[in-house]
Amino acid sequence: MTTKRIAIIGAGPSGLAQLRAFQSAAAKGENIPEITCFEKQDNWGGLWNYTWRTGLDENGEPVHCSMYRYLWSNGPKEGLEFADYSFEEHFGKQIASYPPRAVLFDYIEGRVNKAGVRDWVRFNTAVRWVAYDDATGLFTVTVHDHSTDHVYSETFDHVIVASGHFSVPNVPHYPGFETFNGRVLHAHDFRDAREFADKDILVMGASYSAEDIGSQCWKYGAKSITSCYRSAPMGFNWPENWEEKPALDRVDGNTAYFKDGSTKQIDAIILCTGYKHFFSFLPDDLRLKTANRLATADLYKGVVWVHNPKLFYLGMQDQWFTFNMFDAQAWWVRDAIMGKIAIPADKQALLDDVRNRETLEDAGEDTKYAIRYQADYVKELVAETDYPSFDIDGACDAFFEWKKHKAKDIMGFRNNSYKSVITGTMAPVHHTPWKDALDDSMEAYLRS
Ligand SMILES: Cc1cc2nc3c(=O)[nH]c(=O)nc-3n(C[C@H](O)[C@H](O)[C@H](O)COP(=O)(O)OP(=O)(O)OC[C@H]3O[C@@H](n4cnc5c(N)ncnc54)[C@H](O)[C@@H]3O)c2cc1C
Repeated sequence: MTTKRIAIIGAGPSGLAQLRAFQSAAAKGENIPEITCFEKQDNWGGLWNYTWRTGLDENGEPVHCSMYRYLWSNGPKEGLEFADYSFEEHFGKQIASYPPRAVLFDYIEGRVNKAGVRDWVRFNTAVRWVAYDDATGLFTVTVHDHSTDHVYSETFDHVIVASGHFSVPNVPHYPGFETFNGRVLHAHDFRDAREFADKDILVMGASYSAEDIGSQCWKYGAKSITSCYRSAPMGFNWPENWEEKPALDRVDGNTAYFKDGSTKQIDAIILCTGYKHFFSFLPDDLRLKTANRLATADLYKGVVWVHNPKLFYLGMQDQWFTFNMFDAQAWWVRDAIMGKIAIPADKQALLDDVRNRETLEDAGEDTKYAIRYQADYVKELVAETDYPSFDIDGACDAFFEWKKHKAKDIMGFRNNSYKSVITGTMAPVHHTPWKDALDDSMEAYLRS
């Protein structure tokens, strides 16, 4: 029997989870398929692989990174810890609960360095197109290797799409943008809050990006922050120079006009208006089209493409759980590919599974329900593989505490600490309050 060939698209946390899943089976003496991971950047880590670049990268590819300098985890690390690689194992000690980007990058990289899977990744290689051939039952993957400036194709038995969905910005237009006397940018292109020191900024949106980018700008000296919402305000106890307004109507010169008739003089507009699931390398019959929700469209068990179950997607859900959910998915996909888990042959069964997940998600109204819903999903997948089980309810508790801490003090919630659900150790309180910690290097963070 010939060895199956598997293509993984993307070496961010999801793709790396898939590499680790296969490697862990190999380490137990199992015969694993041949794995090839295509990554268009020159390093792994996905969004956590920071670059100052915006627009196009050095190869002319769209820049993937949507993260910025000074980004700290926006949720407690206790909710994302790998069950097979704790923070204590990586850093040699327990660390505080909201690590900056560089610290989390180091942690993500630590596990795959230990697993020794770097050779499975072809870096600087952008996937251009994927096609499925009914006659052979194989996928042809066409890629551009920028290191050699060579375009080539190879065939695979399975493709796993792990290319992320927080990179291609959703950019609305409002009247007056073209003649606005300042900078208009999307959150995807935001890099350095210092650029907005002493400025009056308008942050459009009411989700994580608006909250965090506004907070960054506040921390690094913006004169005022105005955020505006379409459906509901974020409703935190903002500092006195932060005001929430209803939706923007238009801008004229430097004046922003809002739906309630109020106005504000502003120097810059940051569009925190979300991202698109966007797969330029997939034809219609293989391409996921979904809203950003917990029950993604057309994915059985949240990972199997119902219209061709040889194709898988990782990490396409809206996310409360991140790294450990990607792990649960990756272990499950590995076992499906290796024949340890059977995917129903009846397409209706796959569609019913998707429908049930949607109905269950729609039945809930609040955040607590959504967190529990995703926790149950992670539990379901973990139970079907040998991924180390961990206290998923404990992770939910950390999320619930986090929500309370945000409601109490939006600029101070990162000063709290939580208990690891992997090792049971309590995290230390960070040595400096978040608002005063202007140096977010790994050295500064890990200093006790
Ligand atoms: C601003 C921001 C802040 C966030 N903060 C947090 C946080 O604090 N905590 C948290 O847990 N999560 C956070 N997230 C969520 C984030 O989605 C996940 O942490 C994680 O990065 C998702 O991993 P992924 O591998 O699915 O996707 P990504 O990290 O997006 O990685 C996808 C990879 O695919 C590659 N790729 C894409 N297209 C191609 C192609 N055609 N060919 C080859 N390679 C390709 C990309 O280069 C990239 O390396 C944040 C997201 C954003 C945008």
